[in-house]
Amino acid sequence: MPLGNRRTGSERLNLPMLSLQLHGDRDLRVEEIAPPPPPAAGEVQIRVRAVGLNYLDLWGFRGMAFAKRKMPQAAGVEAAGEVIAVGEGVSRFREGDTVTMYGAETCGHCKACREGRDNLCENVAGIMGFHIDGFARELINRPERLVIKAPKGVSFEDAACAPIGFGTVQHMLFDNARLEPGESVLVHAGGSGIGTAAILMAKAIGCTVYTTVGDDEKGAKAKALGADHVINYREDRFEGVVRKLTGRKGVDVVFEHVGADTWNGSLLCLKRGGRLVTCGATSGPSATINLMQLFQQQYRITGSFGCRMENIAQSLEKMAGGMKPVIDSVFPLAEFEKGLERIEGRKVFGKVIVAF
Ligand SMILES: [Zn+2]
Repeated sequence: MPLGNRRTGSERLNLPMLSLQLHGDRDLRVEEIAPPPPPAAGEVQIRVRAVGLNYLDLWGFRGMAFAKRKMPQAAGVEAAGEVIAVGEGVSRFREGDTVTMYGAETCGHCKACREGRDNLCENVAGIMGFHIDGFARELINRPERLVIKAPKGVSFEDAACAPIGFGTVQHMLFDNARLEPGESVLVHAGGSGIGTAAILMAKAIGCTVYTTVGDDEKGAKAKALGADHVINYREDRFEGVVRKLTGRKGVDVVFEHVGADTWNGSLLCLKRGGRLVTCGATSGPSATINLMQLFQQQYRITGSFGCRMENIAQSLEKMAGGMKPVIDSVFPLAEFEKGLERIEGRKVFGKVIVAF
């Protein structure tokens, strides 16, 4: 049975629907589950079309935080789809709109939410696809306030990269690191989903981009994306290369998400007064820090997690303006495991999408 067109338009059949369900450690299954009811007042019903795979999905795979979760749980931490029905009182959406959704169940009324700092919500009920059911299901009902419309011309695959692939990077580089046109930035893992987005966004405002990659093929692709200097971290110590290329001055900003393996080298790459922003620790979460170096060099280190709703809208605008996310591969739902293998094996260049 082809998965792509079981439900279209406003068709709302009371049939079971397909979902990618996480049952336990390394136990993900495509299964039929009950569809949601018609959208309630203030809700939008979305036919999910594309789900972006992320390290969060891998962590689910590895069994992190299982104790706190109710299994089985729908996987998927970012997605895009088409509005197929709206509940009473919904004014911003209509059938046929391409939309994406915020990936956390925020309260909408605390101080942080009111100020648009959604990822600091004081009453957040969990991250979808991690603590609570995610987006990997054919139909989903979401509150209107957590749905974001994509401008015309943005595809489902691209829009699916907006909440994390692009939104996280928008938040890191511009809200947190306050990257300015003409500055220099070191982007770690330039072949990853967020690494490719960081290269694109930094180059778009005229920054000089240094990036690390694990092989020469990824290096050539990173260069083609616009990176000025590509460093194969398996062959060279990246901190030595960056310091040499910057005349021992260092860069203005380091975009970190690798963690233990790169932390000290990343700090050595920073200019005096430089900014390091981090959103991940794929090589491990523990590192040491030399406090003398921290205060004498006047570094600013910022942790970043997720993004604000506005960052997703900004990301979609960038896409509509021609900044296409780098998509490594698109797999049908039945072959989602191939996508996870590509991410886990570090074979990807860009994002992996599962089509629904
Ligand atoms: Zn809140």
